[in-house]
Amino acid sequence: VINTYIDRAMSGTNDNRNDFQKMIQDSNKKNFDYVIVYKLDRFSRNRYDSAMYKAILKKNGVKVLSACEQISDNPEGIILESLLEGMAEYYSAELSQKVKRGQQESLKKKNYLGGKIPFGYVVKDKKFIIDEDSANIVKEIFKRFSDGETAKNILDDLKHRGIKNSYNRFFCLNSLMNLLKNKKYIGIFNYGSSEIEDYLPPIITKDLFNDVNQRILINSRTPAKYKANINYLLSGKLFCGNCNTVMSGESGTSKHKNTYYYYKCFKKKKNSMACDKKTIQKSWIEELIINLTMKHIFANPLYNTIINSIVKIYNEEIVSDITLKTLTTNYTKTQHEIENILNAIKSGIKSTSLQKELIKLETELADLEVNIEKQKNISAQPINKSHIEFWFEQFKDLSINNEKACQKLIEAFIHKVILYNNKVVVIYNHSGENHQEIKMSELEQLCSNTLTLAES
Ligand SMILES: [Zn+2]
Repeated sequence: VINTYIDRAMSGTNDNRNDFQKMIQDSNKKNFDYVIVYKLDRFSRNRYDSAMYKAILKKNGVKVLSACEQISDNPEGIILESLLEGMAEYYSAELSQKVKRGQQESLKKKNYLGGKIPFGYVVKDKKFIIDEDSANIVKEIFKRFSDGETAKNILDDLKHRGIKNSYNRFFCLNSLMNLLKNKKYIGIFNYGSSEIEDYLPPIITKDLFNDVNQRILINSRTPAKYKANINYLLSGKLFCGNCNTVMSGESGTSKHKNTYYYYKCFKKKKNSMACDKKTIQKSWIEELIINLTMKHIFANPLYNTIINSIVKIYNEEIVSDITLKTLTTNYTKTQHEIENILNAIKSGIKSTSLQKELIKLETELADLEVNIEKQKNISAQPINKSHIEFWFEQFKDLSINNEKACQKLIEAFIHKVILYNNKVVVIYNHSGENHQEIKMSELEQLCSNTLTLAES
């Protein structure tokens, strides 16, 4: 556990939970993989928000785990959440489109568009201007690095001289490397996927910049990055049947320098004597589980049952939009309080604290008004069977090579996979026939199928 985020005595019914917001922000730094909550209802006020925040976390490679819940009260909820996540992705893409359109004008004028101002520049009248003092430091750093001095040496010297970055902190290896890679110093501004030249006045010549970045490329060792790119689709879902411990993804290199990927019992990983479960090849088990799941969910009448219950719980939830109700109640309450103060003032009471209170309440009221409008907009529309069916379609005839869709399938439908020596048990996220048990002997058959599938 690297950190705890606690918002005491808060109901989880509003977004302004400071620690919660901080946790979401910190996920950006990518130094944790999981967020553990006591119960999922602590995570956010409704499923829609939950999906929104989970989508952000997921982008940063973070998963949300619940300490208490094994399978939720309504198992279809998990499938629904996965569906909503898709919607959240869609909405945030749409939102950023809108933002982009608004920024086009500023872009043409080469204006500052917000965000971090790089060391060496200041912003005046919306334009980037070179700040001579700090720009000289930038030049010096580039020059020294290009001359072959180590980053550590440069850092020590900067610290010794008391030179700090724009955040009034000493440079660290990360910030120094980011500075050296920042194309703004040669005038290039990155916008989305495009690069705009001559956007800001250059501090460094292109030759020096290229020289430095060539050097960085040569110096950098990439194995750590490489490792992070491997996606263990069953991580957190696969369990050792011997000792009921999670099996985690690992990689190893053979004598012939081939890298291979597998899952290993976590207990065994800590102590090789603690469990005798053999490791299992990543691709083998993933393919098997994906094939089983596809067959399983598209089998009638299960398919219809799942869809019907998703429609039901979703539509039930929109009717009871607690957030909107709470906001409206607060609105009426605040209006009432304002009236009381106005009446007091009318009756001749003069008090500065009363006036301050009035201003405070009026601000609150305006704020509530905005939030009510917002909430009305995000309150989702009812859905019907065809919406869900459309979403389900993506999993039909899913190719094993489509990693993203496979991941979605596993997240949406699989609760747990338990790997025994003689069988595999799959527990699904929906109620009804949610267990599937496959003996190893049957597996032989299935596996030859999956292998053919991969080859084709
Ligand atoms: Zn084990």
